[in-house]
Amino acid sequence: DDDDDDDSDSDSDILLCSVGGAPKAHRWSRDVERARRLRFHLSKFRENQLTVINATLAGRDTFVALPTGAGKSLCFQLPAVVTSGTTDGVTVVVSPLLSLANDQMRALEKKRIPAVFIRSEMDKADREAAWDSLRAVRPRTRLVYVTPEQISGSRVFQNILGELYHRKQLARFVFDEAHCIASWGRDFRPEYRNLGGLRRDYPNVPIMALTATATEATRDDIIATLGMVDAVVVTASLNRENLSYQVRQKGSNVVKDIANLIRTEYDGESGIIYCRARASCEEVAQKLRNDYKIRAAFNHAGSPDDERSRVQRAWKAGEVDAMVATTAFGMGIDKPDVRFVFHHSLPNSLDDYYQETGRAGRDGAPSTCVLFYRENDTHTCKRIIEHESSSPEVQARKRALYDSVIEYCTNRSECRRAKLLEYFGEQLSPGACDKTCDICLSPPLGEVQQEDGTEFARQALRLVRELQDRGKFTKRDVVSVFRGTSSTKVEAKEYPNIAGAGAGRSLSLPDCEQFFGHLIQCGVLGEHLCTTKWATVAYIVVGKKADRLRDGTLTVRIEITSKPAAKRPGKARKPRAPTTAKTKRRQDRRSGSSLLDDLSDPDYKG
Ligand code: ADP
Ligand code: MG
Ligand code: ZN
Repeated sequence: DDDDDDDSDSDSDILLCSVGGAPKAHRWSRDVERARRLRFHLSKFRENQLTVINATLAGRDTFVALPTGAGKSLCFQLPAVVTSGTTDGVTVVVSPLLSLANDQMRALEKKRIPAVFIRSEMDKADREAAWDSLRAVRPRTRLVYVTPEQISGSRVFQNILGELYHRKQLARFVFDEAHCIASWGRDFRPEYRNLGGLRRDYPNVPIMALTATATEATRDDIIATLGMVDAVVVTASLNRENLSYQVRQKGSNVVKDIANLIRTEYDGESGIIYCRARASCEEVAQKLRNDYKIRAAFNHAGSPDDERSRVQRAWKAGEVDAMVATTAFGMGIDKPDVRFVFHHSLPNSLDDYYQETGRAGRDGAPSTCVLFYRENDTHTCKRIIEHESSSPEVQARKRALYDSVIEYCTNRSECRRAKLLEYFGEQLSPGACDKTCDICLSPPLGEVQQEDGTEFARQALRLVRELQDRGKFTKRDVVSVFRGTSSTKVEAKEYPNIAGAGAGRSLSLPDCEQFFGHLIQCGVLGEHLCTTKWATVAYIVVGKKADRLRDGTLTVRIEITSKPAAKRPGKARKPRAPTTAKTKRRQDRRSGSSLLDDLSDPDYKG
């Protein structure tokens, strides 16, 4: 009887549920209101929540892309306790992380909403009890949280789902943090691959997917993977107005910089510092504690589970201020007053960066996101991608995602907020940043002019061709020869014999470095990555697209900056943007963890 259409909930009925004054009443509306007040103790719904709730109760597939902190959990937890006539019974929530499911279980327990969490590592008695709770004719259990492994791997659980389905007690499938299904997820969690089977086996059961980030490609990927049909898509602007964004030059003593930032602006406040490698997490946390007396702790997948949850609780309770963690930490963790998110190492993609910074400021108060960038780190990451056994296509895709991060960091003229949103296909209205990113606050280099750089590029290519025959040259070496300044690798008196040497004399050092970075990005030049015991070094070589420059099918741009503008008197308000960090040229050989450490780090999900 699932195909009856008596309620005729068309899209516009669902989406425009409050047009013309009074909200359109569905047959479940009174129950929804009652649940909101009595079960969840909320005075009103937030924007979009009711739309999602009505869509799923009407039996529709629903795709929800709302920013972190928007209140997505309610969108499936509340329908789980409402009987709509179209959807009854148990809501199955597939959740990618134990900590996330545990958090939600605790919250449901407080609200006295019967829920179980089934995972492979629970003991036998608990699992049997959980299964039994679902075998009742009309189970009391409203929500079942499961890991993707359970959904795809557990025979018994499959049978239970089948039984629920036949008793018409399977209300809906929910995929929280659904971006895990797409892109990274695809080769990262193989158990997500066969999810299309759910739609085949339970054709009438509505599916809901929720995520904070979804480019259109990601959304399509998720919808296709799950086999969602004619989904109601609920989205909102991804702009997080209360977050400020900064990129700072990562110097040789980045921990000291982090410590100073915390002490001067976020003393005693809560924050997260993301590191790529486990060893860095431990090292950074230890230094912050011992050298700077900051209440820091670390959290990564290498520590025992009980230790991890102990540290996490301490942080949530405010006994620890700075949590130094790998990227897995924080997904789904509902701590409203996170005032800062720092990235000690680069994120794998702008999707990840948005997710990770999104954990700041969920209470709506101003919070700061600082990414510490240095070029050397990019070499290491590229090297890791090169090393991976995955197919060339996957590597290329990861490389492209990663390039967008580099582009975000090295961009010198465009608003960071606008850049981030642009990545998700959203256009920020002019002035909307209102000096809440480092670039809008004080354009670090004065006016930037874009000019045709093809001739410079040709000269640069000639130079690299010559130098490549003479030995190994880093970008720094090549740039100094190009600008005709002294280099340790080539003596200046040889310059007249080298084609292209000195051709960039008119360029400032930052402009020239930016330009060579651009040439590498667009493939005119390439990098040969070599790993030493200490670091990964990139030597500049002729790139794959060099020919296209010669035959004129490729043109490149160059950014020329005028003199730095006089310092603007930045408004004294929080969050503050950085004073322009002095660029540290010295390669820091001691800092950071070694590449081997990074390579052997299973938390690295790239
Ligand atoms: P998301 O999953 O979208 O990141 P959560 O579901 O974790 O967000 O909710 C974030 C916070 O917002 C939680 O503390 C939640 O209790 C709160 N919240 C959700 N809906 C409402 C509402 N209608 N009114 C007030 N607070 C709400
Ligand atoms: Mg959530
Ligand atoms: Zn800006």
